[in-house]
Amino acid sequence: MDFHLTPEEEAFRAEVRAFLDANLPPGTNTASFGFLSEWNRKLREKRWIGFSWPKEVGGGGGSLMQQVILKEEMAKRKAPPLGTCFMGLAWVGPAIVQYGTDEQKRRFIPDILDGRVQWCTGYSEPGAGSDLAALQCRGVRDGSHYVVNGQKIWTSIAMWSQWMILLVRTDPNAKVKHDGITCLLVEMSTPGITVRPLKNMSGGTMFSEVFFDDVRVPVENRLGVEGDGWRVTISALANERSGIAEVEGLRRNLDALRDLARRTERRGRKALEDPTIRRRIVRAEARIEAMRLNGMRFLTRQLRGEPLGSETSINKLHRATLEVDLGELAIELQGSAGLVTGRDAADGGRWQRFALNWPEVVIGGGTPNIQKNIIAERILGLPHD
Ligand SMILES: Cc1cc2nc3c(=O)[nH]c(=O)nc-3n(C[C@H](O)[C@H](O)[C@H](O)COP(=O)(O)OP(=O)(O)OC[C@H]3O[C@@H](n4cnc5c(N)ncnc54)[C@H](O)[C@@H]3O)c2cc1C
Repeated sequence: MDFHLTPEEEAFRAEVRAFLDANLPPGTNTASFGFLSEWNRKLREKRWIGFSWPKEVGGGGGSLMQQVILKEEMAKRKAPPLGTCFMGLAWVGPAIVQYGTDEQKRRFIPDILDGRVQWCTGYSEPGAGSDLAALQCRGVRDGSHYVVNGQKIWTSIAMWSQWMILLVRTDPNAKVKHDGITCLLVEMSTPGITVRPLKNMSGGTMFSEVFFDDVRVPVENRLGVEGDGWRVTISALANERSGIAEVEGLRRNLDALRDLARRTERRGRKALEDPTIRRRIVRAEARIEAMRLNGMRFLTRQLRGEPLGSETSINKLHRATLEVDLGELAIELQGSAGLVTGRDAADGGRWQRFALNWPEVVIGGGTPNIQKNIIAERILGLPHD
């Protein structure tokens, strides 16, 4: 692992900082529509959205290391995201770039880069979450279409997405259940699709159940070869688990929590002076640093051209447990005031929302138990669970 940057990489960091100085001065209202559309236009002009994607498809052709620098600098300044099509940029686009036909690249990539569409992810089903390969939603070939019947669940942002990346079972007789799964790109306005919102425990309706009733999907919307859907989608999950982009966000949360502990009285003194609280904060700090170093280790591997493997589960596990611990600590140190929600609560209820939203980072993308199984079996070589 080499922590030093080349002169070109240092120059790129300076360029990003100069861009942020010019376009994100302190006090900018980053939530305003006017700011966001200008921000995205400027990022597109720089080709910093889809920065590591090939130039031929409209990406920036940037190196992996430059991408890390870009994300780091943006996170340090709390800049709005690099693009508005979150899932499109995180895994749908990369999967299309890798497995899509030229026609699919022309059709889908520009809209993802320009944020003109939202994509959702139709993987989980009522009987297939951790064991995703058990999925039953059927896709049956009928001439130039696949006819889809079945159900997906926990589909984030399905209600306001125009497209879905969908996994269906095309061969129910495949000897290995991972085979016989196919990946389809499905327009959400296709007849036969019903989206039913689900309310989560913090009152939000971010995810939905999605039902498919004789939904006809053109064969040209298949991503990759029939029966190869598992391979098409699995590398995306590894990216989701690498965790390198999350370290700055976790650091910011810990800084805010330290600040809360400084302002909160507990047993007649500032909570930050309580040795138990101090120990928990320091432990969180050490774990965030471990996450950063693990991220660097994965990055080194990628720079050497080695694929991201099961090791990315380590950071996914770190992040999940850290988020729960930080949420619990924030509520606990407020004492009975920690039970108050809404605007009257400390920091406008930010910590209560944070503590209630843990499933988003803990369960989404694979639960801690599943990450532990992966680490035990594939990294430590322990027997199968
Ligand atoms: C906020 C949020 C957003 C989501 N967004 C999406 C989305 O956009 N698209 C999508 O497809 N899915 C999405 N999901 C679903 C998510 O991927 C699944 O919830 C997750 O994979 C777990 O599956 P499950 O809910 O069926 O739980 P289960 O798999 O039933 O697990 C239940 C419990 O059993 C444990 N368990 C299961 N198997 C094992 C095992 N072999 N060994 C040890 N323990 C085990 C689990 O750790 C867990 O504690 C989202 C989930 C959340 C919470």
